[in-house]
Amino acid sequence: MQNKNMLMIPGPTPVPESVLLAMAQHPIGHRGQDFNQIISEISQNLKWLHQTKEDVLMLTASGTGAMEAAIINFLSSGDSVLIGNNGKFGERWVNVARAFGLKVDEIRAEWGEPLDPEMFKDKLMNDKSKKIKAVIVTHSETSTGVLNDLETINKYTKEHGEALIIVDAVTSLGTVNLPIDKWELDVVASGAQKGYMIPPGLGFVSVSQKAWKAYQNSNLPKFYLDLGAYKKAINNNSFPFTPPVNLIYGLQIALRIMKAEGLAQMFTRHQKLAQATRIAIKTLGLNLLATDESASYAITAVSSSKIDITNICYVMKEKFNIILAAGQDHMKGKIFRIGHLGFICERDILTTITCLETTLQLLGDTSIVSGKAVSEALKFLP
Ligand SMILES: *Cc1c(COP(=O)(O)O)cnc(C)c1O
Repeated sequence: MQNKNMLMIPGPTPVPESVLLAMAQHPIGHRGQDFNQIISEISQNLKWLHQTKEDVLMLTASGTGAMEAAIINFLSSGDSVLIGNNGKFGERWVNVARAFGLKVDEIRAEWGEPLDPEMFKDKLMNDKSKKIKAVIVTHSETSTGVLNDLETINKYTKEHGEALIIVDAVTSLGTVNLPIDKWELDVVASGAQKGYMIPPGLGFVSVSQKAWKAYQNSNLPKFYLDLGAYKKAINNNSFPFTPPVNLIYGLQIALRIMKAEGLAQMFTRHQKLAQATRIAIKTLGLNLLATDESASYAITAVSSSKIDITNICYVMKEKFNIILAAGQDHMKGKIFRIGHLGFICERDILTTITCLETTLQLLGDTSIVSGKAVSEALKFLP
């Protein structure tokens, strides 16, 4: 029998049926009143989700497009930037910045370790001539399941005074508290297929007043991703270019679902799902890459000293149709990652744990006590 596919990867994430059905409607013209009304509602709700009074701009792009926009609109050729790099997506920031001729200084940590905010402090305090134009950080590092201490890094950036703070919030937005205005985060980039409960295809960027001032002086080439055009258009509930109309239908419904749940409740749900997953992994005798203190609520990365990781993912897919994410780059074959963000509920986690337990048993692990991992997980899912 054709089994039901179950996506437990960090993205694309599952999509609610009501969102899928909304997307199945005929497209409408994006220059008409009806469409303006949808954008007006979405715009308000995006501000709510992002905890900001500023506009949240929508780009027809994946998350990386939003990251690129976050660089090219606020910086100039030859500018110095300080980038946190402790995984695949930190490295992506470095690659984007270098592609546009920025001078990159990196703060590094091993994959699986969080960035050390004190290393940012040292660099920033020593920058007496205020050469550093931006501090660029990945909040939730999807390649390792590490949540970086953005609040402290941001605090040191504020003490520097000049530098903008530019954040990749692709897997933190909607999963963990990220009060953009309260923390005065300048540019925050995210993407549809992670915490927004819609399919891939939209990137989001929020921009502070300070960043809009920097925009005036930015000389990097831009056209399609020129955020000035999106800002002007959104003030009229519109877009500079044809938006993905059907994805916008989906986003309208997804945001209503999120509002009905509430921000605090969303964060608590993700926290519990992460805690339940982590205790189950430990109970199964597998290893967690990130420590409890630095764990992302969105992704759990797992290694094993007893059973081959690739075999675990293979059996999970072939026998149960549960898709786990492999490790990236040098972590390939060393870890698998469980995505538990967006439209994920307790049942999904309990199912994944149970099937993982059975998978380990099928692969010859005799140390497993049947049902123990689930009963441990239930401590966080009352
Ligand atoms: C998914 C992701 C991105 C963007 O990837 P795209 O494939 O371009 O959507 C960027 N940063 C992080 C942390 C991510 O998880």
